[in-house]
Amino acid sequence: MLVQVALPVPLYRVFDYSVPMEDNALPAIGSRVEVSFGRQTLIGITVAHIAQATSSVPSNKLKPINHCLDDAPILNENMLALASWMARYYHYPLGDVLAVMLPTFIRQGRPLDLLITHWRILPNVSDNDFHTNANKQKQQFDMLKLHGARGASEDVLLLEGMQRPFLKTLEEKGLIERYIEPKSAPKPVSLAKMPLDLNAEQQLAVDAILTAHNAGKYSGFLLNGITGSGKTEVYLQTMQAVLEAGKQVLILVPEIGLTPQTRARFASRFAAQIVLLHSGMSNTHRLQGWQDCRTGHAQIIIGTRSAVLNPFANLGLIVVDEAHDASYKQQDTLRYHAADVALYRGLQYNIPVVLGTATPTLEHLKLVDDGKLVECQLRTRAGSAKLATMQLIDARQQSTHQQAQDDGARYDTGLTDILIGAIRQTLEAGDQVLIFLNRRGYAPVLLCEACGWQADCPRCDAHLTVHYSNQANHNSYLKCHHCDWQAYIPAACPDCRSQNLDAKGMGTTRLSENLHAIFANPQTSKDLYPIIQIDRDTTRRKDSWEKIYEQINQGKPAILVGTQMVAKGHHFPNVTLVCLPNADRGFLSADFRSPEHTAQLMIQVAGRAGRGNKQGRVLIQTLQPDNALLLKLVKDGYLPFARELLQERKMMGLPPYSHAALIRCEGKTLLATTQALKDAIVSLPAAHNLAVLGPIDAPMSKKNSRYHSQLLLLAKDRNQLHHILNQWWQPVLALPSAKYLKLTLDIDPVGW
Ligand code: ADP
Ligand code: ZN
Ligand code: ZN
Repeated sequence: MLVQVALPVPLYRVFDYSVPMEDNALPAIGSRVEVSFGRQTLIGITVAHIAQATSSVPSNKLKPINHCLDDAPILNENMLALASWMARYYHYPLGDVLAVMLPTFIRQGRPLDLLITHWRILPNVSDNDFHTNANKQKQQFDMLKLHGARGASEDVLLLEGMQRPFLKTLEEKGLIERYIEPKSAPKPVSLAKMPLDLNAEQQLAVDAILTAHNAGKYSGFLLNGITGSGKTEVYLQTMQAVLEAGKQVLILVPEIGLTPQTRARFASRFAAQIVLLHSGMSNTHRLQGWQDCRTGHAQIIIGTRSAVLNPFANLGLIVVDEAHDASYKQQDTLRYHAADVALYRGLQYNIPVVLGTATPTLEHLKLVDDGKLVECQLRTRAGSAKLATMQLIDARQQSTHQQAQDDGARYDTGLTDILIGAIRQTLEAGDQVLIFLNRRGYAPVLLCEACGWQADCPRCDAHLTVHYSNQANHNSYLKCHHCDWQAYIPAACPDCRSQNLDAKGMGTTRLSENLHAIFANPQTSKDLYPIIQIDRDTTRRKDSWEKIYEQINQGKPAILVGTQMVAKGHHFPNVTLVCLPNADRGFLSADFRSPEHTAQLMIQVAGRAGRGNKQGRVLIQTLQPDNALLLKLVKDGYLPFARELLQERKMMGLPPYSHAALIRCEGKTLLATTQALKDAIVSLPAAHNLAVLGPIDAPMSKKNSRYHSQLLLLAKDRNQLHHILNQWWQPVLALPSAKYLKLTLDIDPVGW
């Protein structure tokens, strides 16, 4: 017998290897083997056993595996089925799919149980083994001694302030040792706090989901609940039954930033083993988390996108929170959508999958229409909170507020007087204001007033963003937000030498600065209210989010200025006014998905208003107050708006009424990338029946000094699309004109 091995190489095939005579057993399917591949040594996964006669490799060319790394399979049938489904659906090589699924340490061939190192003092060692009490080694030894004979895990010790080098030194001196503690089975989950009384709609949702759970059946649910309607309480009470049945629950969240908050919410309800999984974790922790899911030690798993690819011992429920969020779609390598994979996994385990959101994607609404998702609606806010009112402000009729400068000149603050009045009123009433501006930095463009020159990124089709730090020019620079290129701010225009360079437009830093000027005490210039800027620049440091959170949750009047980071699921009970000074630009974009995404973002941001006991207000400042879609959204709300968009898509035959594959081509010139895509079109099978859009230059076609073209294929029928891709895609990769280019395929793309 031979083994077939999936290797992490970009080839659409598996590889046959023989097993050395002296090894009396074949490596089990699902176990790792080390093999030589060309001149490299690679680690792959055994995916099949085949008879030598059926191999296409002649027996004298067959190479033996070097060795098998695992006594037992590390991937069971369920995981291998997931991998091959993803390989087929996303048209991605199986070995590469497995490489994406597995934690780094597993791919590197590390043992599974190198996990959780514990340290303990060796028997017979005592204080007498130290000459003095005063040195650092002794102090560290004493800290470990507090934990008694069993010692403690390295994590715990490091948290307590012990340092790894000292542990090593003490080990070398023969005073302490490391060991691995076998994990004991977790205790049954118990309630730490009583559940709330559900309202009728919440109860209906919980009942529907638990009916599927009790029947041991797959069912997909769209929990379509307005912001603040208590979706989390629905998750919690559903989870309770699932956890009490001894099953695991997986909760997907869109962002790392949300995991500590989410964890706290679940930990306050359940006494359970909660495991966090996200890409910011160390390799050791990722492997540990992976193992905890696989062995069943983890009872509640909270993770970002890739957590859906983990093995689970006995999964009972998957919740995808904020299921509309674009970050569930992986944007490079294996371009999977975590919500779609979640539904597949639900089918695998015969369990319910809940997609929760206030702003369902058009794809999910279509699945409801097709009877593939069961919709549960929560139409009112839970408890005493009311949904905020929304109002448009015409920024054309209302000139924006002018502020005097030191030299007497006046400048534009970017906020209309109505907006400023509303902000002042809110602050004076003791409440908080949230201003949403999806642009970090000081200003999006640096412009020469004399000749019109703009500071552009030399590597991208994009302007450089102006950054000023601490309102002082000594730390200012230009930066590209797409490739991170940085440059000094020139003293004069490089084209015409004019010194009249001006930062144009509004970023969060500039808006915060304007707000300082407008709302400071006029006598002392001191801030009357804190202005809290929340964006990638101000939350870069590890604990900065927590500090910001703390400050906001003290509840004192304050102005929060934030990018889309603030849109996601946060609960700020004292925010009663939300302002969107220019969030509506997306309604004019060329991308047919842009109105949908813009509306989702607007509604999510608006949902931060009035989550406590007071009525909230949302003010949308716009230059296009007659835009029919915008009016529909503000007047009727998200669902009627989305239904209208869906109707438009249907008429135009666009997704979700067709199935899309986006082909991107990247290279050194647009000429080359376009030609390759033209050749690809020519090689489509005759009478393919697809709509072919392109090739066109990608939006921002030059990025990081590379050029991008793209091609969109639309099919009425999903199977037909995959049928064509099966025969067409691999030959396209081998086209002569594609030789020095990077071609990628994106199934069900969510953006351009
Ligand atoms: P969503 O996730 O739908 O935006 P949350 O789950 O954050 O909403 O709930 C909003 C608030 O309503 C929370 O403070 C929550 O504790 C409260 N809440 C939820 N369900 C109930 C209920 N049945 N009775 C009273 N308060 C509730
Ligand atoms: Zn100039
Ligand atoms: Zn750039």
